[in-house]
Amino acid sequence: MSFYEKLPAELKLKIWKEAAYEHGMHHFRFIEDRYNDLARGHPMNTQLLKILPAQTADKSAWRARNNASRMDAFSWDAVEKFMKGEAAKLLYPLYPVPSTRANRSGSAMVHLDNDLICVQFAGMIMATWIRPLALPDMLTGIKRVALEYTEKGPGYSLLFPSNPFRCRCEDRAHRDDFFCPTTVDDFITYFPDLEKLYFIIKIKQTGSIIPPPTPSLPVGGKKRDYEGNVKPNARQPLKRRLTRAQAKKKLYSDTTERIKATAQRENLAYYEDIKFEYFEAKEEDAEKLVFYEPISTLFTGLEDLWQNQEATQFLPHPVHRVALGVIVYFDKPKPAATKK
Ligand SMILES: [Zn+2]
Repeated sequence: MSFYEKLPAELKLKIWKEAAYEHGMHHFRFIEDRYNDLARGHPMNTQLLKILPAQTADKSAWRARNNASRMDAFSWDAVEKFMKGEAAKLLYPLYPVPSTRANRSGSAMVHLDNDLICVQFAGMIMATWIRPLALPDMLTGIKRVALEYTEKGPGYSLLFPSNPFRCRCEDRAHRDDFFCPTTVDDFITYFPDLEKLYFIIKIKQTGSIIPPPTPSLPVGGKKRDYEGNVKPNARQPLKRRLTRAQAKKKLYSDTTERIKATAQRENLAYYEDIKFEYFEAKEEDAEKLVFYEPISTLFTGLEDLWQNQEATQFLPHPVHRVALGVIVYFDKPKPAATKK
């Protein structure tokens, strides 16, 4: 009997929970390739959405859980219990992805109450009240979804070079915005039970994700006499100035520590995958991040849009108002990730 086998069940459960991530983050590609689908004879009146695991080095929690379930019989049971019932949902492989593909990477189950699903969308976003999904239940029950806010377009360089969230409004009112509120509202229709939409910001130690530090002021002032005149001959105090690199590093660690502490104290949302930890950021903390301004503009745009929809008589579709939030993660992977 190994040491692990002799452990009491509650300790095994604790170990399992650590290994399998109770609040998991999953990354999926959603591909809506309408012209190709039509060319292959797919009916025009529905959308054939394909869900695939994230493209490179997928770090999704479901992979960790699949691995954890293979540890022993106890782990298998724990996974079964955690992933059983109403709260579990299979997202991969789903039609039209052939199930044989899952033999390579395993099938992806997500926990609807505990997990967050980060979507990389490619192709054309179209409201499901215009064209319903070919598989109407494929995304029901999903309550929380995230989109990553990156410097680069979320599209795929070769097949789908353009940003699917770009503005297609008649007047191109949000032409310069990275995410058009109307397109985001169309995207929400894929998830009939969505409660909260997050935008994810990666905080990089180097680069421009945190606003550049304001130049530090010299510590202390010039020595003065009792009348306030600068003493000409007194030794002036040494100016303590952080170098730019030091200031950046300090700002990074201050920001990460503050966000983590606030998230813990206020019981904000927390998720993890194989490589990173993700923390919900409060508005006052998020305000300090470089990408917050365009995201905040988008949030205002969405609130205005929903308000207008609610005020519109005979709107041909229901208004789906969701909560909006910001989640951050840090480019320094969590300590455990280096061991895995
Ligand atoms: Zn627009």
